[in-house]
Amino acid sequence: TPGIRPLVAGNWKMNGTAASLGELRAISHGFMSGLDAETDALICPPATLLARAADIVSSTPVKVGGQDCHAKESGAHTGDVSAEMLKDAGASHVIVGHSERRTDHGETDAGVRAKAEAAWRAGICAVLCIGETKAERELGSTLDILSRQITGSVPSAATAHNTVIAYEPVWAIGTGLTPTAADVAEAHAHIRAELKELLGAEAAKMRILYGGSVKPSNAVELLSVENVDGALVGGASLKAADFLAIAEAY
Ligand code: PEP
Repeated sequence: TPGIRPLVAGNWKMNGTAASLGELRAISHGFMSGLDAETDALICPPATLLARAADIVSSTPVKVGGQDCHAKESGAHTGDVSAEMLKDAGASHVIVGHSERRTDHGETDAGVRAKAEAAWRAGICAVLCIGETKAERELGSTLDILSRQITGSVPSAATAHNTVIAYEPVWAIGTGLTPTAADVAEAHAHIRAELKELLGAEAAKMRILYGGSVKPSNAVELLSVENVDGALVGGASLKAADFLAIAEAY
């Protein structure tokens, strides 16, 4: 989108130990060498690696983020991590509402909205995920689902600075399947229009990422679609060479 600097974000999911940090070093080197001066880069490793990851990318253009946060700042929530803790560990962003969280942990739109607000409270940017399931697409209800998720989970105080939207068709995540360029264009245009309803002029500046089986071989096609302002990359973000090749699609 004209005037929007793209963001290529990696989601490592529940993958990675200290040995994986070599890939992050290689990603940082790639961005330091200026090859990818056209895009911003973000890697979201598991929470256990966040502080070490932040050390590795400090003084490089690459940023690190969390994959989820609790809505509260602190308290009796065993196993959870707050947005403030992510920020303290060096995160600039946090993914909220990923479909795996919605499925594995029963996250609702209202819960995702609270997590986005928690991210802002901590001073970090929310990468808020929405997307339809296979059944919803087959029923022809994709656009309705996106509308409902936006209304339910994007707070009305969202700005281009504090929020990134990621459109991730659930059936395309980790499957090797991708929507056609025309389907991506339709979904992203619809998301932009819904954001405009909710946020007014700010919507024109907001990044809308595409996610779901992005890899080097399809990145140029998917990322050149109108209203696609970057990618959220799962599997292919674990390998520096693949992640850098995707970033070079711009
Ligand atoms: C994701 O988890 O956000 C994702 C898009 O995964 P993958 O790229 O592996 O489909």
